[in-house]
Amino acid sequence: MLNPPLPEITETPVNHDGYGLPVATVQSIIQQHLTPLQETETVTLKDALDRILASDIISPIHVPAHDNAAMDGYALRSADLALQEQVKIHVVGKAVAGNKFTGIVQRNECIRIMTGAQMPDECDTVIPQELITLHKHDDKETISFSSKLITAGANRRLKGEDLTKDKPALAAGKLLSPADLGLIASLGIAEVSVKRKLRVAFFSTGDELRSLGETLPEGCVYDSNRYTLHGMLKKMGVTPIDMGVVKDDPITLEATLREACSQADVIITSGGVSGGDADYTRALMDKLGEVLFWKIALRPGRPMAFGQITSNEHTASLFGLPGNPVAVMVAFYFFVRPALFQLSGRSKTEAHLMKVTTAHAIRKKPGRTEYQRGILFNDEQGKQHVRITGSQGSGILSSMSEANCMVILQHEQGDIAAGASVEILPFEGLL
Ligand code: AMP
Ligand code: MG
Repeated sequence: MLNPPLPEITETPVNHDGYGLPVATVQSIIQQHLTPLQETETVTLKDALDRILASDIISPIHVPAHDNAAMDGYALRSADLALQEQVKIHVVGKAVAGNKFTGIVQRNECIRIMTGAQMPDECDTVIPQELITLHKHDDKETISFSSKLITAGANRRLKGEDLTKDKPALAAGKLLSPADLGLIASLGIAEVSVKRKLRVAFFSTGDELRSLGETLPEGCVYDSNRYTLHGMLKKMGVTPIDMGVVKDDPITLEATLREACSQADVIITSGGVSGGDADYTRALMDKLGEVLFWKIALRPGRPMAFGQITSNEHTASLFGLPGNPVAVMVAFYFFVRPALFQLSGRSKTEAHLMKVTTAHAIRKKPGRTEYQRGILFNDEQGKQHVRITGSQGSGILSSMSEANCMVILQHEQGDIAAGASVEILPFEGLL
């Protein structure tokens, strides 16, 4: 069962403009009906890259474990700086990283210290080697320098300044980055508990679709949606399960939906949801589960289904996307992507929206959200602008390939003048 129950709006409600439900409404309904994956697995640290942390990492140690030198130079007692402007002190020993000075540093003494070496307890300051003059007499060394060149406490890294013992170092739900792997390693932790990868089954529907390697009879098209979906799912770090092309035939469709349901946490279909003669997907989804069908006040990508279906006591979330190749990608970016992040147990999922000026006027009708394909570019002064790619038809996949961002034209927005500010969603780092 969906929890809480889905609101009863299965019959494609429309707003006053006749375009369908606002994007924000659809996004929030989807968000309310998803329950994040609970299952976890333990992986070695290297394999944890791009995985989602399942529980907080509590620091078992202080990092760094001791106060240490931030530069090569001489560790000294800052009290000695106050005595006179020209300081002259004796060098009584040496500390290198991993090998500390074991003696005691008295007043008017210092030790030679290298970056990362543990500070003697008596010392609180490091004067960089570039700032001193070294004097040798017999086998003894002294250094002299102007006390104006150094302040008390300089060039010392403090114990625990990076990570503090018994405090959370990383929070559950974080997508682990290269920096996180290094941070976990700095704590001496070799294995990490991460969320299991989400399994996402997908297939294309349509009698006109042909797979790669097949000949293309008149009136047919090669199935491109499975390739864009595969690419987007791979980038999101989920496990894609490609179930091929399915004809507009209710028996095969039902069998494929049931098979997908038994293998996956989420099912994504494309095509066959618009309510045409050959659109059986919709009736089957109704039969197998609780699925909402929407017309969304959105361009491109209007008809979409969302809900869940059950087969053999296994339940999967379902997205029935439109068939048009651009609409598939738009629906994926704005509805499926946040849902998959949420289901994966990821905590921070907001996309990074930017505001830039449009290089030309854009036509836009109020009453629906439009996602246009844009190219973000720098002018000669280094200022960022966006321009729209040539054709915006929902079948023109080349416009998506050319674009590096989506220009988001909000629900209520009308025509936009050249030079006005618009919101964009860059593709880089989005998935
Ligand atoms: P439909 O939503 O099934 O009515 O399809 C809408 C349009 O998208 C039609 O022109 C289809 O031929 C096209 N289409 C549907 N699925 C695919 C696909 N997998 N690859 C390429 N084009 C598709
Ligand atoms: Mg179709």
